[in-house]
Amino acid sequence: MNTEKRIEVFLKLVLLVSLIVGFGSGCGTSQSELTFEEIDKIDVHSHIFDDVEGLAEMLERIHLRIINVCNRGTDRFVLVRMEEMAEELNRKYGNGILPFASTIDLVGRDEPEYAESVIEWLGKSFENGSLMVKIWKDVGLELKNPDGSFLMPNDPRFDPIYDYLAGQNKPLLAHLAEPLAAWLPLDPENVHYGYYSNNPEWHLYGRSEYPSHEDLMAARDSILEKHPNLILIGAHMGSMSHDVAEVAKRLDRYANFYVECSARTADLTRQDAKTVREFFIKYQDRVLYGLDMTRNAITGEQLSAEEQRAFVDRLEERYRQDFQYYAGTGRMEYRGKEIECLGLPKDVLEKFYSGNAQRLMPGLGN
Ligand SMILES: [Zn+2]
Repeated sequence: MNTEKRIEVFLKLVLLVSLIVGFGSGCGTSQSELTFEEIDKIDVHSHIFDDVEGLAEMLERIHLRIINVCNRGTDRFVLVRMEEMAEELNRKYGNGILPFASTIDLVGRDEPEYAESVIEWLGKSFENGSLMVKIWKDVGLELKNPDGSFLMPNDPRFDPIYDYLAGQNKPLLAHLAEPLAAWLPLDPENVHYGYYSNNPEWHLYGRSEYPSHEDLMAARDSILEKHPNLILIGAHMGSMSHDVAEVAKRLDRYANFYVECSARTADLTRQDAKTVREFFIKYQDRVLYGLDMTRNAITGEQLSAEEQRAFVDRLEERYRQDFQYYAGTGRMEYRGKEIECLGLPKDVLEKFYSGNAQRLMPGLGN
């Protein structure tokens, strides 16, 4: 064989091998062969409090709906304004592209008939289309009782509210605690390094006056136990995103517990892909998709036309990137690291991206 012939044979071999193993750093299409646009998608956890130009068009084009989650119970002006804006956006884009979830007033928690007034507020919100109710980490890690102790999420004052939600068949979206990293020394290798470097008030390492991660998980678990008919969706993988085995233990224990992956896909990419894939397959009826993108024109700045376009582009890019991780095969770059895609089967992807949310929130429709 002459040199040219040898080179030709070599190149053919390279081509063949690359076709077989999916050569290159990008993920291929999964065996499911569902494309990003084709699959019906619901982001169950983002906060869009701004009528961003081009957002609805983009969402329609990529077949994605966002559940717009109200998230401030400690400021009555913001609470009311968020609810109004969520309702307005839902009405404006009347095709169900921006449904919403309400939240619980926390200002009046020491007043008599607190639960009754919250229930009345939520009842109105449900009439106007709210699909679920959010509780945030300020309960457990920030708000105090008159005696100086932390207000915990399993405080008996919340019981009538949880019972009401169970009776109305409305899920509680519970962002309680923080990822475990909040209680550990700052580690540049950890996915949450940036957040805790920039938000030191939530970095609790060495601050023994705060409840521990374990205390908060136990408080959350006690709600699941006490209210077995309450659908509780643990936001951000139930704050156990460091280890899917921890999430699995709770899913095994509590039939009314679900999780969503918003703002924690990166945590999943850092774990063994085979283990995470098995987790998603085993608990295919219990895990929901979310992103946790925030846009707040109520308390934040207004965006220029150019910034609005950039926001919409970035949002689409992040949805595409997540889809590549969950649906694609091979390797990809995710937040600066080369990681392995999950290649989830088609039926699992469909439940994760929309089926589970539709089952838990019938108001979403099909
Ligand atoms: Zn959020």
